[in-house]
This record gives sequence, structure tokens and C-alpha cells, in this order.
Amino acid sequence: MKKLQARREKVIATLVGGVGALVRANKITLVTAEAKFVDAHTIEAGGKKITSDFFIIATGSDVFMPPFIAQEGKNTLITSREALTLDKVPGSIAIIGGGVIGVEFAALLNRLGSRVTVLELLEHIMPMVDPEVSGLAKKRLEQDGVVFKMQAKVTKVKDNTVHYELGGKQESVKADMVLMAVGRVPHTAGLNAEGIGIEFDRKAIRTDSRLRTNIPNIYCIGDVNAKVMLAHVASHEGMIAVENICGHDAEMRYDRIPSCIYLDPEIACIGLTEAQAKESGRKIKVGKFKMAGNGKSLVEGDTDGLVKVILDADLGEILGLHMYGKHVTEMISELSVATTLEATADEIIESIHPHPTVSEAIPEAFMAAYGRQIHGM
Ligand code: NAD
Repeated sequence: MKKLQARREKVIATLVGGVGALVRANKITLVTAEAKFVDAHTIEAGGKKITSDFFIIATGSDVFMPPFIAQEGKNTLITSREALTLDKVPGSIAIIGGGVIGVEFAALLNRLGSRVTVLELLEHIMPMVDPEVSGLAKKRLEQDGVVFKMQAKVTKVKDNTVHYELGGKQESVKADMVLMAVGRVPHTAGLNAEGIGIEFDRKAIRTDSRLRTNIPNIYCIGDVNAKVMLAHVASHEGMIAVENICGHDAEMRYDRIPSCIYLDPEIACIGLTEAQAKESGRKIKVGKFKMAGNGKSLVEGDTDGLVKVILDADLGEILGLHMYGKHVTEMISELSVATTLEATADEIIESIHPHPTVSEAIPEAFMAAYGRQIHGM
């Protein structure tokens, strides 16, 4: 664990140092202080007033500590923040929440030797992933020893015992450590955003697709607008905000955001799940390809996986694509480009995918939607 943490710190120091160098090279003045709005053109930071034509709020999010989960007695309760800096592997851990954070830490800590129990309120883990794909990951994690309690409503943590309701019964699990992973909330404390009239949607600062708040010269990007809490969304929103500030017209497309989940094998997805596509009322076609039929996956020694594509039946438009397998987080960018170019299924099938690569599984899934699959039945 010490070696792992030392490497993590080294990688982060390199990345942060790199950003620091970019800030200096671009002659950006960096003020390290808590900022508070005075009016729409003025902030106060470190005892000084700073005026500007435009502002971009990017204050991020905090871990959500749900008021409906009581904390009693003496608990070793951690959040993702502490989970990233553990100095030793807990003998056992109960994870509240089977979202991305819960499942990623479940996989990691299980691999490091901890006995892991995940408690999830809903029927499926990681709701943005098609359940057929997330189900494969869940099955693999269960084979590795992770215990999932699904449709379990956690109500209380007392003396490291997590109490939950399941099928009308009260149950509990005791662990050396408890990880709270039931979501994150926008961070706006101390900013005085309400004070200058910035409008909110519950706890998030309200923005439109050009990242504008209701105040014309104030923009807002990242977790604090709570649109989609992902790092690559925040950085793309940053570019869109700056384009608009500079007088260009740029818009964020929230229906084309790829998502990557770092398990082993990995999950990557973009767009709608099959159920969401059906709910939208469109006529759909679904194509699937199992990694067992992919040569490179066989070479890699892990054929657990699936590519599932959801298409508009009439137009061949890509509505969603979900993958589980080796390297899929690297492969999803193809679909990000394809959806930006409004490519159809035909164009993916016509694009030559090199052999041997795991990416060959993508056109196979598209062909399967039309009964034209070659390397599968
Ligand atoms: P989340 O909202 O994705 O998942 C929280 C889960 O907790 C949900 O599945 C919910 O049903 C469950 N839950 C809520 N109340 C519960 C209760 N009382 N008992 C049992 N389960 C309960 O939140 P998260 O996993 O904490 O992640 C926060 C944000 O960070 C998300 O937007 C996520 O996408 C992002 N994130 C993404 C990545 C990645 O993409 N690789 C990694 C880390 C974080």
C-alpha cells in the first residue's frame, strides 16, 4: 500500500506540476485564497478586490453525506477522499452506494485483499450503464468475492455496522471500515453566489448549454453546475465557456458524453441505454458482440466482455453504445467522434478496423443489429 500511494502521489505531483507550469507559461495570475462575489464584476479574495469583465465559476463538488443515513456510536467512516489515501488495506469494508465511486473502490479494494460488501438502493449498479453490460461486470466482481446487496436501503451506521432494509426485513453488515459513496453535491459555500442573484437548480448553479448563468458575464462549469459530474465534461465545458466569452457561438452537447469506469476489464459507454432508448418512443435496433469472438481479447487472455449498440431502426443513428472488456476506455473515443459527425451504422461498418485489435468488436456489434455479424452467431 505504501508503494502504491507513493506512486499515486508521484503521478499526481507530475500532473499538478505540469498544470502549474502551463499557468506560468500562459502568464496567468494565480491567487490562492477563498473567493467571494461582491457584485457581478467584483470578487474579494485574500483581502483584495478583483474586478473582471467575465467570471467562470468552477468550484467543484463535495461528498454527499446523506441526512437520511444516521451515524451513531464510533464509526470508521470514510469518503472517496480518504479512500484514495489509505495507508493500509482494511480487512473488510462496507460500501454504501453502488454508483461509479462505490464500484470502482469495490474492485480495487477486493483486488488488494479486502472483504468487500456493496449496498445499493436500486436494482442495478451504475445506472448510466446498460444493465446487460454492468451485469457482466457485477458477475465478474462477485466471482472475485465482492458481495452485492441490491435494493438495500441503508438507514444507519452504528459502531461500524451498516443497517439496511431489504425486502421488508432489517439486515446489517459489520466491517472494519465504511465507505460512503451515495453521490456528490455542488460546492458553493462562501461564494456568495445567491447574494449577487445567481440562480440555482436545487444546490447547483443553473447554466444553459453555453454555460451561461442568469447573469450575462458569469459562466459556470464542472461539478458545481451538476449537469454531468465528470472531469472531461468540466474541461470541455471550460472550452465552450471561453469560446462564448470570446464572442464565438459554442454549445455543449450533453447527449454525447462518453463515460469510462475503471474496473478490470473496463466499462465504457456513450448515449442511451436500451431501456432509455425505448422510453424515448423511437423504433430501435440492438446489436451485440461478445468479446469471446475477438482475436485480440483471446491474445490478451481475457475474453470476458460485450459490445452492445442501440440504433435508430429507420435512420441507423447511433443512440447508445456500451462496452465491457479490455481497453474499451480507449475505444469509446471512436464513438465520441462518430456521434459528433452524426455517423450512421453503415459508416461504422464501412470503416476498416485493424486486426488484431479489440476495436474490431465495434463494427461486429453494428453488423449484428442487421443480422450481418461475421464472427459471432
Ligand atoms: P452516484 O450518484 O453515481 O451513485 C450513488 C449510488 O448510491 C446510487 O446508485 C444510489 O442509488 C445509491 N444510494 C443512494 N442512497 C442510498 C442508500 N440509502 N442506500 C444504498 N444506496 C444508496 O454517486 P458516486 O458513485 O458517489 O459518484 C459521484 C459522481 O462522481 C458521479 O457523478 C460519478 O459519475 C462521478 N465519478 C465518476 C467516475 C468515473 O466516471 N470513472 C469516477 C468517480 C466519480
